[in-house]
Amino acid sequence: MSKQQFKAESKRLLEMMINSIYTQREIFLRELISNASDAIDKIYYRALTDDKIVFDKDHYYIKVIADKASRTLVIRDTGIGMSREELENNLGIIAKSGSLAFKKENEAKDGHDIIGQFGVGFYSAFMVADQVTVISRALDSDTAFKWESEGADGYTIEPCDKADVGTEVILKIKDNTEDDSYDEFLEEYRLRSIIKKYSDFIRYPIKMDVSRS
Ligand code: ADP
Ligand code: MG
Repeated sequence: MSKQQFKAESKRLLEMMINSIYTQREIFLRELISNASDAIDKIYYRALTDDKIVFDKDHYYIKVIADKASRTLVIRDTGIGMSREELENNLGIIAKSGSLAFKKENEAKDGHDIIGQFGVGFYSAFMVADQVTVISRALDSDTAFKWESEGADGYTIEPCDKADVGTEVILKIKDNTEDDSYDEFLEEYRLRSIIKKYSDFIRYPIKMDVSRS
């Protein structure tokens, strides 16, 4: 399957994330959990005006699943999901306020300050992952799609199976290098403390599932 290219501005932001030596790279989890929470909010607000949607509180939560054996970290939500077009438009082109601000400030500052100052969003996943897969099924849709990228050289989108509406972001956590370890992002206590630090205000339950092996 041929790869779609990121738009130039997105590609710059993405390259900055991939090569980040930023010490607070842990903030990727805050960004992904906030996206998950936003996605659940969207169903919640839809339910207020659409009586076909019942907002059963028990069904709406965020789940963080770490698996050391496969070095994957999954952030799953039961939110509104994304169609193929939304995957394309929302993840392929980052033209949001964060990246616009990045562009402006970039002339004066280096990357370190920028990541701290602005919500860098979805692409921050590439600070800790060398492959990001997003499996999503939109509300009112029977079909799911898989968006996948290994970084700046582009992304693919293809149909796939997903039983429920919502989104699953799968991070393939980077291998350790001589002077850099990423293992902490698969450790339960560490993930818990990052969630406590940055996502304490999230209105939906954040459940965790960590394999110890
Ligand atoms: P922002 O959250 O500031 O809009 P992000 O880079 O974090 O920017 O996310 C880009 C967009 O991708 C979001 O606005 C949203 O439309 C979409 N998105 C990201 N994650 C999810 C998710 N888990 N569920 C539904 N949509 C998502
Ligand atoms: Mg966001």
